[in-house]
Amino acid sequence: MTPPWLARQTADDVVHAVPLDDVIVHEFTPDCPCGPAPYTTPGGVVLTHASLDGREHQEAP
Ligand SMILES: [Zn+2]
Repeated sequence: MTPPWLARQTADDVVHAVPLDDVIVHEFTPDCPCGPAPYTTPGGVVLTHASLDGREHQEAP
């Protein structure tokens, strides 16, 4: 089962990808304590927040 992620657009060209039910509450800003990583895409910038439970390092079966 894939852990849930939330994608929220905060500006015309900015989207935050935030892990749900994480151990911290993420802020929808580049200053979030998790240190979100910005990726530039043709449609704008995607800020991928780091899940502090390490879910993105778990491999799917
Ligand atoms: Zn965050």
